[in-house]
Amino acid sequence: MICLGIESTAHTFGVGIMEDTKVLANVTDMYTPSGGGIHPREAAEHHSDVCDKVLEDALKEAEIKKEDLDLISFSQGPGLPPCLRTGAVFARSLALSLNIPIVGVNHCIAHIEIGKLKTETQDPVTLYVSGGNTQVIALSSGKYRVFGEVLDTPVGNALDKFAREAGLEHPGGPKVEKLAKDGSKYIELPYSVKGMDMSFSGLLTEAMRKLDDERLEDICHSLQETMFAMLTEAVERAMAHAGKEEVLLTGGVAANKKLQEMLNIMCEERNASFHTVPYDLAGDNGAMMAWLGILKYESTGKDDVEDTSFIQNWRTDDVNVTWSK
Ligand code: AMP
Ligand code: MG
Repeated sequence: MICLGIESTAHTFGVGIMEDTKVLANVTDMYTPSGGGIHPREAAEHHSDVCDKVLEDALKEAEIKKEDLDLISFSQGPGLPPCLRTGAVFARSLALSLNIPIVGVNHCIAHIEIGKLKTETQDPVTLYVSGGNTQVIALSSGKYRVFGEVLDTPVGNALDKFAREAGLEHPGGPKVEKLAKDGSKYIELPYSVKGMDMSFSGLLTEAMRKLDDERLEDICHSLQETMFAMLTEAVERAMAHAGKEEVLLTGGVAANKKLQEMLNIMCEERNASFHTVPYDLAGDNGAMMAWLGILKYESTGKDDVEDTSFIQNWRTDDVNVTWSK
């Protein structure tokens, strides 16, 4: 089965093509905000400007024709409404014009499933950390339960905001990581974990305040140490709670070596295994949409076109995981 998957929840427009478990193509085009944060309508305009070109490039990369496709899958939510609408319209018109089935899938679950496929994990606790999300998720009684999540600013967004305040370029995460390597002094910052939920706003404000009187490298180092210790604590608690022995790290922030190292140490201490999703499949992309599309289609069939409107706040634990044993 060849499935074409479309991602459009936020800044990235992506088209990926999977032939069963094999990635044939994965093309993305990212909108970068002109200043300040992401502007939903501008991002959606970006997506409609690039969608035909991204589709064409993906088909070329996969060395197939549109007519070879068996299924269309798209990110139905959660996300920014104008962006979701653009993706849904594009997916629907493609499916109708080719007269092939369509399925809408959950963005967060797509991150988990492509991660499981690529790392060969069976039943992990997933830490999904990106610009718009921070969640600790594990499968329990047929649903991906969110054991813990951020109560305010997601981790990637917090890093980006801090970087902007410090005069660094967007995206901030990689810049902060690089500067942190030259930091040595630990500056105490607010540490806030409640059960398995966490809050980054207070820490962010305090880190910004330190910009006047501490070295940037030291603040970056302390920011990472504190945020990632909070994430590691939440993941460890979820593992104990849910009885899991694997950790899967995904989302754009998964690229961070310091975060990987801290989670890996925690896993070693618990005799658990640690896995990071490969870089090109960890950030938002179309291949993960295609893979979850195949899983969903093979277990419950196609969606009716009437049921393919976007779902802005689609929760991870609203989805019945019908495809997992
Ligand atoms: P996503 O929303 O999944 O596409 O991921 C984008 C987010 O990942 C942005 O907030 C980036 O700042 C962040 N990011 C990317 N690379 C790194 C890194 N090496 N360390 C920390 N954050 C990163
Ligand atoms: Mg994402």
